[in-house]
Amino acid sequence: MNSPDSLLFPGSADAGATVCSAKGCRSAAVWVLAWNNPKLHTPERRKTWLACDEHREHLSQFLGLRGFLKDVVTLEEWEKGDARSASDG
Ligand SMILES: [Zn+2]
Repeated sequence: MNSPDSLLFPGSADAGATVCSAKGCRSAAVWVLAWNNPKLHTPERRKTWLACDEHREHLSQFLGLRGFLKDVVTLEEWEKGDARSASDG
């Protein structure tokens, strides 16, 4: 079983609330968008946004246009995979 505390998503107010990061959206997130702003972050750092099916494209486009988007994986995959290094705020 996964503890919600194992999820290190900066910006999500409630621990364990895996809702979409799109403004005003309360849908359950199914996607994790991993991104990095080279002006603010070291290259290996990853910030994450959550997205529901509906907003995945919108949010990844937003990041993609700025050259920030690194990876899009399902939440399920992210949880079992390389979330470990995401310990920043
Ligand atoms: Zn959404």
